[in-house]
Amino acid sequence: MAAAPRIRLDCLGSGFAFSSGRYWNGWLLNGRVLLDCPPQTLPHLYRLGRSPADVELVLLSHEHADHAGGMDLFLVDAVHRYPDRARPWAVAGPTGIYERLRQVIGDHRHQPRRDDPRFRWLEDDGGAVFAWAGITVETVRMEHAVPNNGFRVHIDGGVVAYTGDTAPGPHIAALAAGADVLIVECGGSGPGMHCDWDDVIALRRALPPSTEVLVTHYDATRVPALPPLAGFTLAEDFAVYEYRGAA
Ligand SMILES: [Zn+2]
Repeated sequence: MAAAPRIRLDCLGSGFAFSSGRYWNGWLLNGRVLLDCPPQTLPHLYRLGRSPADVELVLLSHEHADHAGGMDLFLVDAVHRYPDRARPWAVAGPTGIYERLRQVIGDHRHQPRRDDPRFRWLEDDGGAVFAWAGITVETVRMEHAVPNNGFRVHIDGGVVAYTGDTAPGPHIAALAAGADVLIVECGGSGPGMHCDWDDVIALRRALPPSTEVLVTHYDATRVPALPPLAGFTLAEDFAVYEYRGAA
């Protein structure tokens, strides 16, 4: 009998920053970790029968609105609809992410202060390891226009690697080393900013078959003809991806 999936990824969106008719890239991992928090996160969470109360950890790759633009409404919803939640939420991101969110959100009295005991803000420049709610996260600095942390999430016996936004380079293979799945962006505009199709295809070819590659953050209106590649999937809004993970 096949082992039960250890990793479940609900795709909250698979698009890049400019609208191509897709929702912006974002993921719910095993029902309790958000990989980025794009603007549509809250309604999509509820659409899945989940809520901020189920989320233990929000991992923000960087401050850009297509990745963090849903945080203000997530925080307000969390605080006001679940005031009696016994345990705090953790929000992790590059150093300075709280202040950047505060600048965007403003000084609204309903927004939690940095020292609000209901939230833990975990900021670093890459290279950190932290544990939260039985989940261990390693951060790996990526290469983007602004500081961007990739994440290696050890959860329920599996490992998920997530780039956020990044230019290509050996840091992506390092992020993906030994992971069951690599979620990689393909924003494809401008040097030093994003991966392009050639980059994600090369990554697929370089990584071992034991690491699935899930491409996200792409322009669905401009997908080129792709070679047949095993273990290479283009993410679709609202799709569910399941992986068995390591034994
Ligand atoms: Zn982006």
